[in-house]
Amino acid sequence: MKRSKLFTKTLKTVAADETSRNAELLIRAGYIYKEMAGAYAYLPLGMRTLEKIKQIIREEMNAIGGQELTMTALQSKDEWERSGRWDSEKLDVWFKTALAAGGEVGLAPTHEEPITKMMTAEISSYKDLPVCVYQFQNKFRNELRSKSGIMRTREFVMKDLYSFCKDEATHEEFYEKAAESYHKVFDRLGIGNDTYRTFASGGSFSKFSDEFQTICDVGEDIAYLDREKRIAVNEEVYDDETLADLGLKKENLEKVKVAEVGNIFTLGLRYSEALGLVYNDEDGERKYVYMGSYGIGPSRVMGVIAEKLSDDKGLVWPEAIAPYKYYLVGIGEEGEKKCAEIYQDREEVILWDDRAGVRVGEKFADAELMGIPYRVVISEKTLANNQVEVTERATGETKLLTSEEFINKLS
Ligand code: ATP
Ligand code: MG
Repeated sequence: MKRSKLFTKTLKTVAADETSRNAELLIRAGYIYKEMAGAYAYLPLGMRTLEKIKQIIREEMNAIGGQELTMTALQSKDEWERSGRWDSEKLDVWFKTALAAGGEVGLAPTHEEPITKMMTAEISSYKDLPVCVYQFQNKFRNELRSKSGIMRTREFVMKDLYSFCKDEATHEEFYEKAAESYHKVFDRLGIGNDTYRTFASGGSFSKFSDEFQTICDVGEDIAYLDREKRIAVNEEVYDDETLADLGLKKENLEKVKVAEVGNIFTLGLRYSEALGLVYNDEDGERKYVYMGSYGIGPSRVMGVIAEKLSDDKGLVWPEAIAPYKYYLVGIGEEGEKKCAEIYQDREEVILWDDRAGVRVGEKFADAELMGIPYRVVISEKTLANNQVEVTERATGETKLLTSEEFINKLS
């Protein structure tokens, strides 16, 4: 991408009402635009990062047999009444509206009900099981708080996966596989070391639900970590009984602030009973399908990474999710000429700051604010030795490579 073509600008400051650090940095760097409290637009740079996060999740969901689909955000009252969740007293984040044709419709806060209903058309025999489907789909939640930037918004993309098994045993097996795949996702996103599978309340069939919580100063939850065993307990369920159950000792636990990046639930028969999702087993007996649901919030993950890995100069993306890997700056006519040559056909990995009349210092500051992993400088001076200067954003370390070495790195 040529910087001169990118319509977004970098800013020195943001509006005073933006108090979240992730949003402040992302707005200043031109990744997102705040439309209103709790609702942000993803601009070209922000979309690239969000899409890379989604792609990593997609690959890991496919690896455990997930099949991607996408459902509508519009929710029919009927299905949610059958599960008992239409009532705003039961689910306090609903956005609902009236249909011009009469009746009410909701905007999906999650998708258990419609997907269970849909599966009644697909599942009828034990031969149809297990099935596991997922989507990246916008959810709408009328959240009371909206002070955490993109970590908590009223419209957000969620990866939600649903599993359908014939019994508890097959479910348990899949559930553990899903938990493992979550660890792989967070490892690849560069937050694996700080992300803990956390025992929490809220399992409708099991005693606990499993949250994936990342250590983060602005996280809204509190967890107690056992760093050695790599498990954690959410404050909600932190008591002597839970600790005894899990074989954890108080003195080995560390109290930290965490942000929930993912969540996996055993749903059991709750939704299949409510919506009539049954199958015929090997003996011809009709049984309810055993379900699980598995969420990750890609935009919250992006916010958490922005919070955790930034410094006083701006964002610091891990390579895997940076919008571009290199920020290219040419100095002088010869430098610019060499940049044009290197940039050719590599617009997917290089953001070339080709803007005329912008000071080099300003370009460097933008490269840092945007958090591009490597800044590459080519000037008459470096070219005199047939070299390019590569500076790593995360460490500030600078290396001189020959043009050929650098070009080899690119391909
Ligand atoms: P929280 O307790 O933070 O409200 P939740 O328990 O409501 O989260 P789930 O319903 O399990 O979350 O949603 C799955 C995932 O979606 C969460 O783990 C989180 O990553 C993400 N998520 C939930 N609410 C939001 C939101 N308002 N904005 C952005 N991401 C969200
Ligand atoms: Mg919530």
